[in-house]
Amino acid sequence: MTSTETRLAVDGISIPRPARTVLLNPGPVNVDERVRDTLSYPDVCHREPEVADLMRKIRHKIAAVCGGTEEHTAVVLGGSGTAALEATISSVVPETGRLLILDNGHYGERVHDIAAVHGVPFQRLEFGWANPIDLQRVVEALENDLSITHVALVHHETSTGMLNPLLEVGEVVASHGVSLIVDAISSLGAETLDIVAHHVEWCVGTANKCLEGLPGASFVVGRTASFAALRDIAPRGYYLSLSRHFEAQEYLDAPAFTPPVQILYALDRALDLVAEEGVPGRCKRYADRAAQLREGLAARGMRFLLEPEHRCNSVTNVQVPDGVTYTRLHDTLKADGYIVYACQDELGRVFRIANMGQVTSDDISGFLLALDRALPGAAP
Ligand SMILES: *Cc1c(COP(=O)(O)O)cnc(C)c1O
Repeated sequence: MTSTETRLAVDGISIPRPARTVLLNPGPVNVDERVRDTLSYPDVCHREPEVADLMRKIRHKIAAVCGGTEEHTAVVLGGSGTAALEATISSVVPETGRLLILDNGHYGERVHDIAAVHGVPFQRLEFGWANPIDLQRVVEALENDLSITHVALVHHETSTGMLNPLLEVGEVVASHGVSLIVDAISSLGAETLDIVAHHVEWCVGTANKCLEGLPGASFVVGRTASFAALRDIAPRGYYLSLSRHFEAQEYLDAPAFTPPVQILYALDRALDLVAEEGVPGRCKRYADRAAQLREGLAARGMRFLLEPEHRCNSVTNVQVPDGVTYTRLHDTLKADGYIVYACQDELGRVFRIANMGQVTSDDISGFLLALDRALPGAAP
């Protein structure tokens, strides 16, 4: 791991460029150089046909990643994953409807907070952090409250690393004739997700997690007809009205507002790399890295937050060992070039190690050696 900075010389001015850091946080991720290269494309006006082409291509490729058919499309937004999540939660539930929120962690809580701030009618089912979703409670909620029109599920609950049972929830939701909204922000690309087979009506994702693009763009995938029907729901916001973005992108072939054009070029390239690797190929790569990491952690006596059957392919939550603080561990690892990630306070002395993005097998091996140097009892 090199920590010496290199310098870029531009017109005789020397600009420091930090060395590569291995990002073991759950996004933004280390990207392929071919993705980063798009940032040096020439400047472009967002109202020109080349950007219309770019957006059309991206929308098409995103829908394909989710298993969309010709009836599906995607709407792309400027903003991080939460922008697309807020646009969806605030735009798709009518005044007369109700959203059932399945909450077993920080991101379930976020869906609740978004619904509350927008005055979206909701019922929240809390299972507790790091507890699995109890399908029986979901069935009961749907049977006891016939005003529920939508259910929101976080596919991969990134705060705990728990993969929630999308297929089972999808089947329950579909059999009750309601719509499923899925926060797939940290699962798309790393976990199996099929918008049709899993009965997903609205699928929310972002550029900079397992699709391995750069931060600044997010998106929603759904049926074109479902997007079109949103015009009958009174908007709860202006910038994040999903209907507004859909109509601009679909009917006017133009973004509603200035999009992050450079980030979209990067996303387009990143989506080509997803297609080249194939979603199953990427899921396997992530699963392999996670297995390598977990094997190394177990060999070092580290304790995991979750039982193996609940673990996702991209995030591992482990206890901070006795005799060291998280901050100390983080800072020591950072000095060696590895970024790990804290957990929300609810989980106590637990931290996260992600393997999203361009993390190689050598990166994981190097991290485990750095961990040996950072753990209590290591020679100074
Ligand atoms: C990262 C994440 C978000 C929020 O994404 P931002 O890009 O930080 O806005 C929402 N939901 C889940 C499940 C996430 O992992």
